[in-house]
Amino acid sequence: MSEWILEFVNVNYSYPCNLQPAIQSLDLKVPAGKKCGLIGQNGCGKTTFFLLANGLYRPKDGTIYWQGNPIQYDRRSLTQLRQQIGLVFQNPEHQLVASIVEEDISYGLCNLGLPESEIARRTQQAIADFDLQELAHQPIHNLSLGQKKRVSIADVMVLQPQLLLLDEPTAYLDPRHTSELIGQLHQIHASGTTILLASHDLDFVYSWADWVLVMDRGQLILEGTPEAVFEHRDILEELQLGVPLAIALIEDIKAIAATNGDIISLNLEQLKQRIFLRSNNYVG
Ligand code: ATP
Repeated sequence: MSEWILEFVNVNYSYPCNLQPAIQSLDLKVPAGKKCGLIGQNGCGKTTFFLLANGLYRPKDGTIYWQGNPIQYDRRSLTQLRQQIGLVFQNPEHQLVASIVEEDISYGLCNLGLPESEIARRTQQAIADFDLQELAHQPIHNLSLGQKKRVSIADVMVLQPQLLLLDEPTAYLDPRHTSELIGQLHQIHASGTTILLASHDLDFVYSWADWVLVMDRGQLILEGTPEAVFEHRDILEELQLGVPLAIALIEDIKAIAATNGDIISLNLEQLKQRIFLRSNNYVG
């Protein structure tokens, strides 16, 4: 198998009525088997990249390779592609199609034309995996946004994709369900699925990902291991992204140690102040 599961080569995409291209001469490779984090400012093209990746949009020019082969845009190839590349939208309202949770989860399986017993088995498994037993028979419109988000992830995972794309997966989730999602992502990855998620939460990306991609104005700016990417503090600050809190605090502590060596005398209030400033990127 190729080292790269998905590859964009010189891809361009513009929205009608928008003079600025959303994706510009983009060369981007997603390594097979990794947990990848995609970061970048609002409007840098992350969502457009996802929509191109699973064939919902077609590039103006350039080529997208899935497992080494150019994506084909006929209906049959696209149906197959969207089973292999699962996309979880940032806003679950854009994903859910049925009126009842259980029906929504089985919807994609029905479209694949699987036998009823297989549809029922996989649907029940997804309901259990994503802790949706209590919601299974509820109308979708009664669910909170966070609950809808969990259903939308189950909708995609029930299809057993080889590449899972998640746009801001922790948006709308409370701390408990965020930590459950992180556990599920570990399991999904351990079962052999490559994951690429877009997030504005640098601390999450730093601790979770083993490969990081940075986009700006429709182009790839940096890629590599989290350690290698977050070393480029100058570039990340120029893009107004900053660095993860852990890195910023370690640098603070080193700077204090280098000047007067008096780290121990930082009291809790001073430490809290530094964490606040660093987590909001107020300190350069
Ligand atoms: P965010 O972090 O805010 O979710 P993003 O990185 O996902 O942003 P995109 O949503 O891909 O960015 O947007 C890329 C560019 O394309 C932006 O300049 C945006 O204004 C533009 N754009 C996105 N959707 C449309 C649309 N439907 N019509 C016109 N322009 C669009």
